[in-house]
Amino acid sequence: KKAVAYLTPYMEAEKEEAGTVGQARAKVLMATVKGDVHDIGKNIVGVVLGCNNYEITDLGVMVPAEKILDTAVAEGASMIGLSGLITPSLDEMVQVGNEMTRRGLDLPLLIGGATTSRLHTALKIEPAYAGPTVWVKDASRAVGVAQKLISPDARKAYLEEVAADYETVRLRRAARPSRKRFEGLDAARANASVIDWASYAPPAPKEPGIRVERKISLAELVPYIDWTPFFQTWELAGRFPAILDDEIVGEQARGLYDDARAMLQQMVDEDWLEASAVTGLFPAVRDGDDVLVYEDAAAEEPFERLCFLRQQIEKAPGRPHLCLADFVSAEHGQDHIGLFAVTTGIGIEAHVARFEAEHDDYSVILCQALADRLAEALAERTHALIRQERWGYAADEQLDNTALIAERYRGIRPAPGYPACPDHSEKRKIFRLLDVEANVGMKLTESCAMWPAAAVSGYYFSHPESRYFVVGQLREDQIQDYADRKGVGLDEAERWLAPNLAYDPERS
Ligand code: SAH
Repeated sequence: KKAVAYLTPYMEAEKEEAGTVGQARAKVLMATVKGDVHDIGKNIVGVVLGCNNYEITDLGVMVPAEKILDTAVAEGASMIGLSGLITPSLDEMVQVGNEMTRRGLDLPLLIGGATTSRLHTALKIEPAYAGPTVWVKDASRAVGVAQKLISPDARKAYLEEVAADYETVRLRRAARPSRKRFEGLDAARANASVIDWASYAPPAPKEPGIRVERKISLAELVPYIDWTPFFQTWELAGRFPAILDDEIVGEQARGLYDDARAMLQQMVDEDWLEASAVTGLFPAVRDGDDVLVYEDAAAEEPFERLCFLRQQIEKAPGRPHLCLADFVSAEHGQDHIGLFAVTTGIGIEAHVARFEAEHDDYSVILCQALADRLAEALAERTHALIRQERWGYAADEQLDNTALIAERYRGIRPAPGYPACPDHSEKRKIFRLLDVEANVGMKLTESCAMWPAAAVSGYYFSHPESRYFVVGQLREDQIQDYADRKGVGLDEAERWLAPNLAYDPERS
């Protein structure tokens, strides 16, 4: 983009001489939907399209439907690209589709981002929008799709092909409902993990309560970075460090890694980002599929009820129906649970703005991707501190970074929104218990995305048998029970758990 900005006047002058005053191929309006802070993937798509002579208007993150559509109309955009990372954004995209229909728009709607899919687009978004809808699998496909959409020759056939494909998806789905079988909630509960609590003494934390750390040294975090996901961000496939010598992407990966290390060094030396963490270790008691959390040992009433979900898919004999709550003792005064929220994103905006002003998109993306890596590194480093010192049940633990990445330690740190605990709205409880906003400056959007984007929050479980799993599809009996436990309506629980419903809430 820097090179293009430099060359544009020359190119324009040349074109003027030749009498072919240049025009962008088409205008593309891009935005991350309301409630979501996903930016990196969208920026990559923007760069790829920009390099192919599309004129990009990027409205940024957390953009309400109204603003997206008003701007698209005002600017005469040829297509709209919506991006989102977390599951509630899927719903928001459907709302944008509805609103486009209501306004009588017919420009193509492109859908992209981590939780989006061909299936969801076909089942939910395309039916909401009367105009053309296309799911774009990844950044590398964006140009091909856009090209077809603006080509007078190819457009019609392409849109018919896409529409037919989505119709096939819907018909197949309707004709052949999933053959998966699910247990009722009672049966699943009766087949919970068998944990031998009688011969197990839950460890007491050496430092119970809340701990806040601000301005943690970035240098301390660097050794904890897991580089493999960094390359995934750039759509370079392969494990680090082997990826550096990969036959196909090795050269690109090495160049990228050199640039990343150089910027990381600058980030550390010049303190670009403020790293902060808040953790809490609290008395906890399992209550069914919930965990009651007490502020301290003297508290009589629980401060919060953390609600978890239990697998319901039919299992082979001997395989339990897992639920995170099972890893906490049901006996009062015995066990604890940990909570955490960490961020390395405070302060990033000034640097991103500086690179944007220099038309340096590459550095914008590099900077955001590094901040994400540092946030995960901070989560790793803080979890280690919890195990070795604050909770202190693994004081002698000695694991190098490879062993940490492979999770060879005792205990887990599941994060709301991930497969074992897919309800993002449970983050609100973590934020309340740890007073996250006041303590470290992180916020939750209405969809429970975390701001800044470079942030991680979750629970600490210490039981040696605790592990990650996928809670999967759930039946209505559990969703109703869960809604009751949370004190919300069934429809609200269904909205937060939409991707996990084993039934169609509109039909039932
Ligand atoms: N080293 C990786 C760590 C992040 S991915 C990185 O730097 O990106 C692993 C994290 O995702 C876990 O620590 C946990 O917080 C979350 N996670 C993974 N699988 C999960 C599951 N099934 N349920 C809940 N959380 C999960």
